[in-house]
Amino acid sequence: MVATESSEEKKLSLLADDLASLENYIHDLFSFSPLPICFISPIGVVLEVNPAFENISGFKSYEIIGESIEKVFKKDEAESLTKNTLEKRVIEGKEMTLSPKGKEKIFIQAFTRVRKDEKGKIVGYFLGLFDLTKIKETESELREAQLALMNILEDTEGARKIAEEERSKTQEIINSLADGLLVFDKTNYLALMNPRAEKLLTVKREELIGQRAVDFFKFESLKNLADLIGGEIKEDLFRRELKLTKNFILEVSTVPLVANGTRIGSLVILHDVSREKIVERMKTEFVSIAAHQLRTPLSAIKWTLKMMLDGDLGEISIEQREFLNKTYRSNERMITLINDLLNVTRIEEGRYLYRPILSDIALVLKFVINSYQEEAKKRQITLKFKQVKKIIPKVLLDIEKMKLAFQNLIDNALKYTFAKGKVVVTLDSNGKEVVVSVKDSGVGIAEEQKKRVFTKFFRGTNVIKMETDGSGLGLFITKNIIVSHDGRIWFESKPGKGTTFYFAIPIRNQTNKRLKKA
Ligand code: ADP
Repeated sequence: MVATESSEEKKLSLLADDLASLENYIHDLFSFSPLPICFISPIGVVLEVNPAFENISGFKSYEIIGESIEKVFKKDEAESLTKNTLEKRVIEGKEMTLSPKGKEKIFIQAFTRVRKDEKGKIVGYFLGLFDLTKIKETESELREAQLALMNILEDTEGARKIAEEERSKTQEIINSLADGLLVFDKTNYLALMNPRAEKLLTVKREELIGQRAVDFFKFESLKNLADLIGGEIKEDLFRRELKLTKNFILEVSTVPLVANGTRIGSLVILHDVSREKIVERMKTEFVSIAAHQLRTPLSAIKWTLKMMLDGDLGEISIEQREFLNKTYRSNERMITLINDLLNVTRIEEGRYLYRPILSDIALVLKFVINSYQEEAKKRQITLKFKQVKKIIPKVLLDIEKMKLAFQNLIDNALKYTFAKGKVVVTLDSNGKEVVVSVKDSGVGIAEEQKKRVFTKFFRGTNVIKMETDGSGLGLFITKNIIVSHDGRIWFESKPGKGTTFYFAIPIRNQTNKRLKKA
């Protein structure tokens, strides 16, 4: 009996042990759970909390147990949580706001499940919380990123629209340009061509786009252009005339397109200058005819005056001689001007012919210098000639033209130098060229006017008052003469100090080499 009793007791004590360890086990599990869990009574009073719940709510277990869950939830949310749980038994993932003690509100998801006793009576419910803070943060970051992305997309779209508008504006401008335009890429393939260029060159855009400049030779109407732009587009800016027919002349300019220091292509601009050329030609023709018509009567006047001055038409008084001399000089000036004009028109029409022969340039220089000695003396200027090397090679010269060119330089040097000044002509050779310099101690040429010195009708502001006699054609003619001898002409000048004009004529081996036409 005792044995039986003791074995019953043993069983009971074992059972009690089991129960105690199960309770411990559940309690440990409850405490261990990283998820905040609490047990709530059917009227919403907190009965038990685990450490994770204490953590999230900021309340110690003794501060919250026995209190309503309204302590951590809004009143209406707390009420509906309890009501819904009791009705539905289970709630999964209801989003709510938890108000922890002394901390900012946080978003959580609530999970509930009712708890029944052994008789099936609801004794309360478990409430598990899932912290949504991180998820919400990520969500808002995601939303911000999304928003930023949308903004970027909008900006890109805006930029694309602006670029498109700019492009069509540029296209519109290019299309409506009065000049023809060809755009080549950096490998010299034609990338763009405007309607005006199509019209000027009588070709269709579709035929040319994508072709290289060298391929233009295939097109009859483009042969001249291909010749002019040299097959390959030149690197630097250059401008030339392209004569398509007698009365159809284009001015072709090539402009390199450069971005950030590298060449990205080139522009070829075609400007129709036919009208200007016709007007220019008519002007030259008119000047030529007028000058010719004037030359005959001026010659007649010259010879009549000369006869009178020589006494061939009877005695003249001193006073009459004075007047006749003045008239004679004026007439001479007019003849010089007419001759200059005729020379200019011939140069412009390409009719200024050269007959070169192998000559000793020193003789030409000395001849002109001698003819100016009297004039130099009158002006009280010393005019000297220096030959640096004993032997100067002969060069191909059109003697009459060379005389005229040199005369102009001497004439200027004397005209633009004050009394007591000096003009020195030097002849030298550098092996490849003979070099002549005309150095004066005159008024000089203003810095800002230097680049216009060789242009037609240019007269320096500093000389207009001192020497009214001058047409501004002398240096234009001189330059043409020197260039037509394949030579070079240049000058150095200091205002108030003096000027030196230089020209150089190449030394050639063959005597029969023809000179260029001006
Ligand atoms: P012109 O002497 O008839 O005016 P040119 O064509 O010979 O015309 O010369 C053009 C201009 O160049 C002159 O008007 C003058 O201003 C300037 N010039 C030419 N030679 C000299 C010089 N030796 N010294 C100063 N100025 C000069």
